[in-house]
Amino acid sequence: MKKHLISLFFALSAFTMGFAQFELPKLDYDYKALEPYIDSATMYIHYNNHHAAYARNLNASLEKYPKLQKKDIQYLLKNISSMPSEELQISIRNNGGGYYNHNLFWSMLAPAGTARISEKFMGVIEANFGSFHEFKSAFEKEALSRFGSGWVWLIKDKQGNLRIMSTPNQDNPLMFFGDSNIKVILGLDIWEHAYYLKYQSKRSDYVKAFWNVVNWEEVENLYKK
Ligand code: MN
Repeated sequence: MKKHLISLFFALSAFTMGFAQFELPKLDYDYKALEPYIDSATMYIHYNNHHAAYARNLNASLEKYPKLQKKDIQYLLKNISSMPSEELQISIRNNGGGYYNHNLFWSMLAPAGTARISEKFMGVIEANFGSFHEFKSAFEKEALSRFGSGWVWLIKDKQGNLRIMSTPNQDNPLMFFGDSNIKVILGLDIWEHAYYLKYQSKRSDYVKAFWNVVNWEEVENLYKK
């Protein structure tokens, strides 16, 4: 009985104090599972250092705002401009964006050969871009022309059409389209921290290698949602 009371106490105090709720998602694969395309050292550092820092800093910046701690990350990203201080807006943009973008990224990767594109989804890509080759070229071109750090995205717009876009830093399409019905269905991290250990300055080699480890099953799920 006493034990139950103690855990109830901790549960309640965690609730009222608004404990840091943004945690790193568990990866569905090992750090080495994406080799040789994405190496295990990069995966380890990327997840445990970079991604963890975004989550930690996001949680720290929300400490004074218990009501906002209860919101989900998409809500925070879509409503940056109505956040109560400029400092918090900046933190949500950078740390909240970094936290969410990496959550998406890990789920959109899979060990080579384990989540191939279906015929049906190939048809969707072809209908939108002419061919799979044209889609990949357009995506790669966007990745290479983004100056500095950022992300390349495949999004489904309000009309259901697929579009490629890129964003700087840790921005995410949700920040630009607000509450409209756009959906991010694929993203590629093109910060140097995502590829420099293995590919050094050769971003294009990294982008080409990425096609081997895309989790097309997840991309299709996101498209259908
Ligand atoms: Mn990253």
